Amino acid sequence: MNSSGLDVVNVVKRFGDHAAVDGASLSVKDGEIVALLGPSGCGKTTTLRLIAGFEALDAGTIAIGGADIAKLPPYRRDIGLVFQDYALFPHLTVADNINYGMKQRGISKIKRDSRRRELMRLTRLEGFDERRPLALSGGQQQRVALARALAISPKLLLLDEPLSNLDAKLRETLRIELREILRGVGTTTLVVTHDQTEAIGLADRIALMNRGRIVQIGTAREIYEEPATRFVAEFIGRSIWFPGHLKQGTHGAEFLTDDGFALRINAPANARAVNGLSIRPEHVRLSARPNDVSRIPATVMSVEFFGAELIVACRLNSGGRVIRIPIRTDDEAIPVAGASVELGISPDRCKVVADD
Ligand code: ATP
Repeated sequence: MNSSGLDVVNVVKRFGDHAAVDGASLSVKDGEIVALLGPSGCGKTTTLRLIAGFEALDAGTIAIGGADIAKLPPYRRDIGLVFQDYALFPHLTVADNINYGMKQRGISKIKRDSRRRELMRLTRLEGFDERRPLALSGGQQQRVALARALAISPKLLLLDEPLSNLDAKLRETLRIELREILRGVGTTTLVVTHDQTEAIGLADRIALMNRGRIVQIGTAREIYEEPATRFVAEFIGRSIWFPGHLKQGTHGAEFLTDDGFALRINAPANARAVNGLSIRPEHVRLSARPNDVSRIPATVMSVEFFGAELIVACRLNSGGRVIRIPIRTDDEAIPVAGASVELGISPDRCKVVADD
């Protein structure tokens, strides 16, 4: 049993008739960083508030290190929290902000000073002891909030959109910094974000949430390569979606798209729930190779320049749909508008899933 892993099982929270969290389950292993990612209003913050104890559960269980915490008040849950706006005490110095939780817990001055110094070193805040939060940059305030949350040596750290108050450039630098700090302390962490780049950059695994439920949990790569549903395929990265149905062809499993062409696939595990096929645009080859079993005749409509890549818009001859395929700008064979092409797709790149 891991000592500070988080287990959220079938959690439900209703506000009136609306289930903001509707049977969500996820686990974070001891020392792991998991990002809770999803669109606005899907229930991320409510899930975080349930774990922190600011909302009461309607159903389900929440445990840390195997012990049920759902009935405990927030201050007894052993959880460190970093809010979106950092919520620092403006009238207290940086040192006093970091000391605050330790003082409340009756930790001795010697231990407080030593822990604070260690955290200030780790968060690169040395020399800022006497500053007040308003005299710090956004990134520095965020690090104070982090040091304050970690000061009580919590079993679990919860971060709510920790980078969203910062400008885009700073966000990228701080994402890397934050990850290093979290790695350094090794605290089990759940971070809420609506930004996939942030989730991919920060977390060991991503729990993807939609309409109050966790729809998939895995590493960024697992989710990208094996999306469980259309929602997942379209939320993480780019995806081309073909509605249609499965069919047993003469050479094996096939997917017949509604626009009338058959794509060879590797047989899916849950064949009954499937009603569409997702392909990552970069997995469609503009000129089919001899071993591409699925070929789609198309016509190039336009080629747009985007720095390192070009986007080639192709109209499929059957059905007339336009799909956009990225190629490298330094690619040897750049097509021209009006050219006829044969798009090549390998069966292992075709992911047949449910449209949810
Ligand atoms: P965002 O990324 O925009 O912060 P979120 O995924 O964190 O969204 P929540 O804040 O958890 O979403 O909200 C989930 C749903 O529950 C929303 O429809 C929201 O309007 C509703 N909701 C949240 N808190 C309350 C509340 N106290 N009373 C009523 N409805 C609420």
